[in-house]
Amino acid sequence: LIKFDNVTKRFGSNVVLDNLCFDVASGKHVTLIGPSGSGKTTILRLLMTLVKPDEGTIKVAGDYLTHEEKNGKLVPSGEKHSREVRKNIGMVFQQFNLFPNMKVLRNITEAPVHVLGLGKDEAEQRARELLELVGLTEHIDKYPSQLSGGQQQRVAIARALAMRPQVLLLDEVTSALDPELVAGVLDVLRDIAHTTDITMLCVTHEMNFARDISDDVLMFDAGRVIESGSPEKIFSDPEHERTREFLSAVL
Ligand code: ATP
Repeated sequence: LIKFDNVTKRFGSNVVLDNLCFDVASGKHVTLIGPSGSGKTTILRLLMTLVKPDEGTIKVAGDYLTHEEKNGKLVPSGEKHSREVRKNIGMVFQQFNLFPNMKVLRNITEAPVHVLGLGKDEAEQRARELLELVGLTEHIDKYPSQLSGGQQQRVAIARALAMRPQVLLLDEVTSALDPELVAGVLDVLRDIAHTTDITMLCVTHEMNFARDISDDVLMFDAGRVIESGSPEKIFSDPEHERTREFLSAVL
C-alpha cells in the first residue's frame, strides 16, 4: 500500500534519508524506531507531502504521490494530484493540532463535509461513532481547551479516522502528554490496530506499544533501515550492534 523506492531527502548538505526503500502492505502495522535525527519523522512528513523527496518515488495505494506518468514518462506532479493521493492518508501529530475555535464534534466533521463533500447528518453520525470508539462521547460539545491533552489526542485520532483513510500515520503521538495520560491514548490505538483493517505507520518511543501492535519493526540509523523484522525478533534478538545499543538505551 505504501512503497518508498530509492528515496533520498536532503536538508542542505544533511542527507536525512539515503536511497531509502521499504514497503508497507495493506492492513499491516509498521513501526519505525531509531535514534533521534535518524529520519523517522521525515518519512511521515514526506507521506503528507509537507516535504518533497529530492530523489526517488513514493507510491500510495498504487499511485505516485509526487509524480505523474505523462507520455510514458514520470514527471513531478502538481499539488492537485498529490492532494488526491493524500486522501488515502490520515495523520496524528505529536501536538494534537485541533482547531481551537471549534467544538469537538465540528473538529471531526469539518474535513469530511468540506473535503469529502459528506452531508452534515452523515458526518455527524460517523463522528458520534468515532467518539464512542475513543471514549469521548460525553465531551462532544466541548472546546479543545476544555479537554486534557490525552482527550485532545483522542479527538485528533477520531478526526483522522473520520476521513476513512486507508493509512494512519502516528508521529510520536504520546510524546507531548503527561505520563498518566499516555496509557489511555495507547489503549485506543491498540483497539484500532486490533479491530480495524487500517494500515498503520508509527513513529514511537513506546516500545511496549510497538511490540503489541506491530507486524514489522524497522530500525533506522542515519537515514537507512539497518534492520527490520517482527517485534519478537527485533526486541529479543536484534542482529545489529546499533539496534542493541539503541534498545538498551530506551528499554
Ligand atoms: P526524532 O526522534 O528526534 O523526532 P527523527 O528520526 O524523527 O528524530 P527527523 O525529524 O526525521 O528525525 O529529522 C532528521 C534530520 O533532518 C535531523 O537532523 C533534522 O535536524 C533534519 N531536519 C528535519 N526537518 C528539517 C527541516 N525542515 N529543515 C532542516 N533540517 C531538517
